[in-house]
Amino acid sequence: MMDNRQLLLRGLPKIDELLLDEQLVFFMESTPRSVVVDAAREIIDELRREILSGEREDTPEKDELIAEICDRITGKKKRNLRTLINATGVVLHTNLGRSNLCRAAVESVTAVADSYSNLEYDLKKGARGLRHDHVEKIIAKITGAEAAMVVNNNAAATMLCLSAMAFGKEVITSRGELVEIGGSFRIPEIMEQSGAHLKEVGTTNKTRPSDYRNAYDPEKTGALMKVHTSNYRILGFTQEVTLKEMVDLGKEMNLPVIYDMGSGLMADLTRYGVDEPTVLDAVNDGADVVLFSGDKLLGGPQGGILIGKKEYIDRMKKHPLARAFRVDKMTLAAMEATFFEYLDMENAKKTIPVLQMITVSGEELQNKADRLIEAIKVRTDAFTLGSEPCKDQVGGGSAPTVRLNGIAVSIASDTVPAERLERLFRRAETPVIVRVAHDKVLLSVRTIKEEEIETAASAVLFAAAQAGVN
Ligand SMILES: *Cc1c(COP(=O)(O)O)cnc(C)c1O
Repeated sequence: MMDNRQLLLRGLPKIDELLLDEQLVFFMESTPRSVVVDAAREIIDELRREILSGEREDTPEKDELIAEICDRITGKKKRNLRTLINATGVVLHTNLGRSNLCRAAVESVTAVADSYSNLEYDLKKGARGLRHDHVEKIIAKITGAEAAMVVNNNAAATMLCLSAMAFGKEVITSRGELVEIGGSFRIPEIMEQSGAHLKEVGTTNKTRPSDYRNAYDPEKTGALMKVHTSNYRILGFTQEVTLKEMVDLGKEMNLPVIYDMGSGLMADLTRYGVDEPTVLDAVNDGADVVLFSGDKLLGGPQGGILIGKKEYIDRMKKHPLARAFRVDKMTLAAMEATFFEYLDMENAKKTIPVLQMITVSGEELQNKADRLIEAIKVRTDAFTLGSEPCKDQVGGGSAPTVRLNGIAVSIASDTVPAERLERLFRRAETPVIVRVAHDKVLLSVRTIKEEEIETAASAVLFAAAQAGVN
């Protein structure tokens, strides 16, 4: 017996027939034929799947089908790398591109992007210059370090630093600090790749200064390294050798001390519940070289920043890996502009998006949530809307135990499951990435920019329309 599904499947038009449609023929004038064919095929395949799963019990009219294919073609002509709205409340979301740049950085990037620049040209001398020079002075000024350089990311910085300072030598590191940042960055593996040899000391929970002394071998040891356990904490029966103590040990053994601090927090955020070491503390404590990311708590572009004693930084600048890890003019432009913001620390908390999102007051969050609710109500009354407290995160492997008090706009429906809404939000013109809890969709407003409120509300209308409840 033929069931309804088979009837429906038979009723679906053939791709060849569809391609004769006037609108699609028109599209082919400005779009590669393969894109049009793919779009048609995808839409028909999706319909087939929906019919088979029972999700769909009718076939769309031809007009409707063609409209969907046209939408899909338009979609395909869009860039793959697109902007979206982060409504997860995770400020440094690694999957969503970590930090947003500040306005000044964006302007600097735009300015150098389509123009020649003095990237490696000394305007005073009229001769070749160094690309490092553009950021070195400002970074040194802000951090108090003697010298600085910027490479592609902190993983590259670690590799370069170890290679330049301890190739073929042992680097003593605490067992409690053998960090993994995402699958491919692990301190022991990076160390091996750099040509330095890891000398682990202490235990997972306890490391003492004497452990470093016992491991020291004047013939073999090249450096001491401390790694900030940025994405985890060891609690309970613990002992850690502080950076200051490491610096004293370094002096005692006449060895450089390297500090990989992960997040490059510049402003003191303890008042906001974020108790991370700052770059200034690390420099004050006397580390010889400090490395950190550009796009974590610093709030700049992707990059690895190396600061410290001039003799070491100079060695790294001349190292062959420096060329392999070098950054382009746009990164340098963004980095320079970001550091400039830090000349006025209080102002930086407002102008650097990452800092602004962490330091924003509860009142402002509530206000933003109210405005988002209003913007949704203007467009649709399909959902039950509310605002509720939520827990936000710094993210990006920083401050792993900190939960920031946030406010979320909740969206619920009697007829559309929250999981379906979550999917529909992702398919909006500007996708919105949300959380789902207790059959409600939650849009944490901390990470939604002012100028995204209307767009986010439009995505809610889109979801309502797609679910057929608007
Ligand atoms: C994040 C992190 C890194 C890697 O930094 P990227 O800029 O992502 O390459 C290295 N070390 C620590 C301690 C980190 O937290």
